Amino acid sequence: MSEPTDIDDTPTITCSRCDREWDLAYELDELRAGNSAVEQFALDHERHTGHYPDGVTPWIAACRCCPAGERFLRERPARRWARTHARHTDHGVALQHGDETAVVDPDA
Ligand SMILES: [Zn+2]
Ligand SMILES: [Zn+2]
Repeated sequence: MSEPTDIDDTPTITCSRCDREWDLAYELDELRAGNSAVEQFALDHERHTGHYPDGVTPWIAACRCCPAGERFLRERPARRWARTHARHTDHGVALQHGDETAVVDPDA
């Protein structure tokens, strides 16, 4: 039986814009956030500072016909949102990830 090394189990987030580093031990222990701890932290960080931490590239869904839009940290919910909006409103939705932009058409 070897000693458990739990150092690597704690996700660490850095933000070069804030010049700060956080470990998410609190989120993992207190909130039982598990795998979504990083995601939640990134969303909170954006809410408070207007930018995302290092290594986080959001999926930005923005309707091309109306002000509707959402930000996601994963592709699947972003695509689902875009498809649902397009279907219900007959609007085309732009889906941006980094430098790439895809368009979700209502008919797709
Ligand atoms: Zn920051
Ligand atoms: Zn729309």
